Amino acid sequence: MAFLIKYIKEVASAVGSLWAGMRLTGKYALRHGKEKLTQQYPDNRVELVLPERFRGEVVMTHDTNNEHACTGCTACELACPNGTIKIITKFDISPEGKKKKALDTFIYHLELCTMCNLCIEACPTNAIKMAQTFEHSVFDRNKLTKKLNLPGSKIREGVE
Ligand code: SF4
Ligand code: SF4
Repeated sequence: MAFLIKYIKEVASAVGSLWAGMRLTGKYALRHGKEKLTQQYPDNRVELVLPERFRGEVVMTHDTNNEHACTGCTACELACPNGTIKIITKFDISPEGKKKKALDTFIYHLELCTMCNLCIEACPTNAIKMAQTFEHSVFDRNKLTKKLNLPGSKIREGVE
């Protein structure tokens, strides 16, 4: 007898659950056309808001004076597990006439990047960050190799 009661309760619970699901489906079906229930990419490209933690690609930040905070220390290059970053340095001459190591070219291979964020964490001067860009597909893969320091840019005064 106890088995029968348990069985009936389980059937009733299953029917209740099915009814709740069908009611929700029916509600959405009746509202269809009046209200947009889902947003399909790329139709929502303009209003798309990505989560703060989204990692699209590594970029170098430059201020309005075209200055950055990269010292060319290579910490990011060393931290990268798969050779995505290549730092080429040069020697600048300081006003005192001393030779000082500086960044010449920051090369970033987007096609190799796993967006692990290790380079960003390794940078002692916050010179690089993750951008929220997406849609990186290109026909020519050479376009995925980027120079992150802008033409004519230089290190911000006071950054060591
Ligand atoms: S995010 Fe990771 S894989 Fe990409 S460049 Fe930085 S350390 Fe390398
Ligand atoms: S981006 Fe940061 S870690 Fe990489 S070379 Fe420049 S200062 Fe060093």
